[in-house]
Amino acid sequence: MKPAPFEYLAPTTIGEAITALQEFDGEAKLLAGGQSLMPMLNMRLARPGLVVDLGRVQDLDYIRESDGHLAIGAMTTKRTLERSPLVQNRQPLLHAATVSIGHPQIRNRGTIGGSMAQADPAAEYPATAVALEATLRVIGPTGDRIVPAEDFFVTYLTTALEPGEVLTEVTVPMFEAKTGWGFSEISRRHGDFAMAGAAVTLSLDAAGCCAEPRIALFGVGPTPVRPRGAEDAVRGEQPSDLLCQNAGRQVSEEIDEPLSDVHASADYRRNLAGVMARQALSDAMARATAGRGGRA
Ligand SMILES: Cc1cc2nc3c(=O)[nH]c(=O)nc-3n(C[C@H](O)[C@H](O)[C@H](O)COP(=O)(O)OP(=O)(O)OC[C@H]3O[C@@H](n4cnc5c(N)ncnc54)[C@H](O)[C@@H]3O)c2cc1C
Repeated sequence: MKPAPFEYLAPTTIGEAITALQEFDGEAKLLAGGQSLMPMLNMRLARPGLVVDLGRVQDLDYIRESDGHLAIGAMTTKRTLERSPLVQNRQPLLHAATVSIGHPQIRNRGTIGGSMAQADPAAEYPATAVALEATLRVIGPTGDRIVPAEDFFVTYLTTALEPGEVLTEVTVPMFEAKTGWGFSEISRRHGDFAMAGAAVTLSLDAAGCCAEPRIALFGVGPTPVRPRGAEDAVRGEQPSDLLCQNAGRQVSEEIDEPLSDVHASADYRRNLAGVMARQALSDAMARATAGRGGRA
């Protein structure tokens, strides 16, 4: 299929992009890597009057270290993130999520900003951002604002971005050696969107008990889901296989109404989410323990 006709603009500054979005008053679409937008245009699921290509806008493609965090420009490709030693060594959860996305061809073109703005509930990055308590910098006609990841994803394919706003940066913490993390997902074929997955971070306190557990699930609701009951069940407890099993069971019970489609029924997804969370928690606990020199 071919897209409906549209005008095309390739600005070189964010200001120009925002002005164009304003002029088209909700009828313009930003183009990043095109890995989601182009299929939507071709299938005529989107019919914008104007496509604003961010490809030539300066200073949107970077990974910078600052104050214990990594600031990542919205146009940074997944391939760049995958190959970054900084990401591999200091934000391995983001790295694990990145290499799980689609195929190399998708990661060559697709950007971190595009994935966040697309807000596909089965995508790896939104849930990872929630697990990391990432923040997103957004610039619009009235200035810029910082949005916590948990507030950014509103519902299916919908974010807190207002018309005329551009996502410019994603900021994630850099991990200490003692930070435990786990990432687990399952899909029917390699490279497919996951049927369910989990991203987990935690650390161990002085007594060797789990502190600050964060679990974010994907593929099981309209946005990333944080099962707070399961997090509460883990907090303050000594790491163990039984703890992971019980938390996984709690995750399955806690999920409201998982999607049911041709890939998986709601019940199957509920079960998968528990299994993925259990695996990711177990990996996170093992890494946190190893980071403390093996002493839980
Ligand atoms: C075969 C295939 C398999 C895939 N598998 C996976 C997978 O397993 N996991 C996964 O997560 N994804 C998968 N994807 C999707 C892929 O990751 C896309 O790259 C991603 O969803 C969008 O990023 P993009 O840079 O291509 O954005 P685009 O497609 O260019 O844009 C996506 C949306 O975001 C908006 N947008 C883009 N950038 C900005 C910005 N800076 N500010 C505001 N709005 C913006 C656009 O207007 C558009 O609405 C797959 C895609 C394909 C084609």
